[in-house]
Amino acid sequence: MPSAPARVSESHRSLKQRQILVLNSEGSLLPLISQLNRDVVEAIKTEFGRDTEVFVEWLDLSRFHSKEYEGQLVEFLARKYNGQSLAGVVAVTEMSLRFAAAHRERLFPGTPVVHVAVRESEATRWNKMPGIYGEAVDYDPVPTIKFALEVHPGLKRVVVITGTAPFDRLWEGYIRMRAGQLEGRVQFDFWAGLSMAEIRQRLAGLGEDAVVLSPSLLSDGAGEWMIGGEALEKIAEVSPRPVYSVFAQRAVEVGAFGGIGPDYSQMGTRAARLLALAAAGQPVPLSGETAPSRAWFNWPQLKRWRIQESQLPPQSVIVNRVPTFLEAYWGRALTAVVIILVQSAFITALLIQWRRRQRAEEQLAVKRDELAHLTRVSLFGEISGTLSHELSQPLAAIKLGVEAAQMHVGLQGEGGETGRLLQNIARANDRACGLLERVRSMIRREPPSRRSFDFNESVREVLALMRGEFSTRKVTLIPNLSEAPLAIQGDPVQIQQVLVNLMLNGVEAMAASPAGQRRLEVETTSLGNGSASLVVTDQGPGFTPEVREKLFEPFFTTKKTGLGIGMSICKQIAEDHGGSIQALNAERGGATIRLVLPLTP
Ligand code: ADP
Repeated sequence: MPSAPARVSESHRSLKQRQILVLNSEGSLLPLISQLNRDVVEAIKTEFGRDTEVFVEWLDLSRFHSKEYEGQLVEFLARKYNGQSLAGVVAVTEMSLRFAAAHRERLFPGTPVVHVAVRESEATRWNKMPGIYGEAVDYDPVPTIKFALEVHPGLKRVVVITGTAPFDRLWEGYIRMRAGQLEGRVQFDFWAGLSMAEIRQRLAGLGEDAVVLSPSLLSDGAGEWMIGGEALEKIAEVSPRPVYSVFAQRAVEVGAFGGIGPDYSQMGTRAARLLALAAAGQPVPLSGETAPSRAWFNWPQLKRWRIQESQLPPQSVIVNRVPTFLEAYWGRALTAVVIILVQSAFITALLIQWRRRQRAEEQLAVKRDELAHLTRVSLFGEISGTLSHELSQPLAAIKLGVEAAQMHVGLQGEGGETGRLLQNIARANDRACGLLERVRSMIRREPPSRRSFDFNESVREVLALMRGEFSTRKVTLIPNLSEAPLAIQGDPVQIQQVLVNLMLNGVEAMAASPAGQRRLEVETTSLGNGSASLVVTDQGPGFTPEVREKLFEPFFTTKKTGLGIGMSICKQIAEDHGGSIQALNAERGGATIRLVLPLTP
């Protein structure tokens, strides 16, 4: 069951079938009026009940405005509604109100008439007549122009474009009347009754100091009808300046900038309420207030004229808003952000993994180097083992041969020089055997032999042994041995091995020096602190900081055919004997190696 508002009395509710007539002044194609018509019909159904029968007439009075047409229209309506018991009539816009008031007695005598969308001056006039009610609507252009003056600082002219239809003329007159209020602030130019082509042509030359106001253009100067808002659309399309309208709600939909005008959506509801009271025979309170206004703006136009939303009147309606990227695609944007985050996480994970792998590869490279090093060490061990084994037999044969020769010389009684030479061979052979033994014991990891011997004596033996080498290499040997014997506890062969290595390195370091500058000094000294030193000094290039740092590391060599183990063995031997070895650069150039060994107490 439909429900009527509380303030509507029982008598109204008891009406058999309520019938209401809505009179629209224009044709049904005028968008604003047709929208208003829909709102009114809906409001009537809400107010009077869903079963209310609503008749709608489109009087088309703007297009057909002859007396004859009007007379025939009245005749037609009188016949059409004869016998119907209308509970009320709604007249939409001023022209249908005039029509309804003029022909009320003939068409619907005694039936209350409520008007909608009628200006204040007209409303006040007609409301004085019994049975006619309605709230005025405020189409005042002044607030719109005031707004324009605020947001366009250089504004000097308002171009008012109107047409030739009676409704258009009505508007032209109204704006002329209101324009007086803004005298001195802005100038009004009226382009009334021009053809659309001319209007568009003139618009093209509009200066920066102007805005356009087009209240109504149903028919242009060429007699062309444009009732669906086409005129405003055509104007807005070419206007180089903002186009305002007092029918702002509709105007913004066809591309106008905007304006301040009545809020149509509420008009129908308010009219239906008044009609319900009037139909029920109750007093109709007319506050004299106008229907509420509101501002409407077109979003793309706000952007075009660089107007901020904060500059608009409160509760402005903005149409055709193009959502920002995030508003339009927030779902997709969120997905994209999530994908990017996930991707970033993956990339980070991959980078971490890659870095780890790089580190692992670096460690692997170090391991590989160590392995290569160990391989070389073991290879060296193997070669040394084989060499010492292979050499021990010919050396034993030499020993036997020398001994046999010595015996032979002894038997023949020929001592002298031959005997001394044989003795030298025997000693050298012994040293070679000792060296081999040492290598073997190194491989077997046996501790060095320990006995007391004279350090100077060992050095002298080496010097004698190497004399030939020195003369071949054109090296002058300068021995400087302490006079007192230096008793050392340890392995004389190992100590000699150290000395041989140091001397050979010195000789090799001087290979590039001129023959006269190849001097090698070998010095032994008792240090007076229970130890003795052996210092070998050459006149070669000395040690670079890098070489000095790595000198004693196994396999460190700067020579093409070097093995790089000599110095590391020297260091090991020095330490095995409780001593130390040091590499220095001599003050007058060249390298100095200093071996310090403890003396036997
Ligand atoms: P190798 O002689 O096989 O290279 P060493 O362990 O005896 O191995 O020497 C290591 C490196 O130390 C040499 O390659 C050389 O660069 C440097 N070195 C040793 N003695 C001298 C020296 N007297 N003068 C300059 N550089 C030297």
